[in-house]
Amino acid sequence: VYKRQELGNLARDINKMASSLEGLYSQMATLAKTDQLTGLMNRHGFEEIQAREVSSAKRYGSPLSLAMLDIDHFKKVNDDYGHDVGDEVIRAVANCCQQVFRDCDYCFRYGGEEFVVLMPQTDVDAAMGALERLRKAVEKISVEASGGHEISVTVSAGVAAYRKGDETGALQLKQADEALYSAKRAGRNKSLAFT
Ligand code: GH3
Ligand code: MG
Ligand code: MG
Repeated sequence: VYKRQELGNLARDINKMASSLEGLYSQMATLAKTDQLTGLMNRHGFEEIQAREVSSAKRYGSPLSLAMLDIDHFKKVNDDYGHDVGDEVIRAVANCCQQVFRDCDYCFRYGGEEFVVLMPQTDVDAAMGALERLRKAVEKISVEASGGHEISVTVSAGVAAYRKGDETGALQLKQADEALYSAKRAGRNKSLAFT
């Protein structure tokens, strides 16, 4: 009887350990997909969600828009006011993204001062409308730097629709990037759709 009880205790302890390891594993998996500066998902998280949304758009033939955004002349913010103020600007743009886009859209910090937004069930016209709202919200950002300077911020964006035959969504990302660079060349503080 004593031995059976001991075995029972041991089994209970092992189960407890397994469940806390599981919790730890899931916490680590979430952290690996989260950008520390902004709390948005990072590029790793983007790749996972893009794969899921592309496969759903393929299966159901539903629209899927992708926007790539880049802060304009950001290097100058770092150069003039320092890296910490630059970080503050990145955080402010991330907050704008979270406020402007719908809960069912996904915002990611793709790298440095670049963001990606995935908009399921959204065609390019609707995506352009959302980006216009974001562009205007970003224009209103005001970050304070030393010496009482108020820094103004603008973003440029490129949008592309998911197209049948684009197996991984890589083409869509490339087309959004091309549209972004057209927006930069067209003078910045603009959103353009890939045509
Ligand atoms: P453009 O309008 O053409 O986009 O010009 P830009 O100056 O924004 O572009 P560029 O790519 O030359 O500059 C990006 C800068 O972003 C350079 C890099 O040092 C800075 N950067 C990248 N990651 C971070 C970060 O996490 N924090 C800060 N503060 N700066 C970063
Ligand atoms: Mg950039
Ligand atoms: Mg930039």
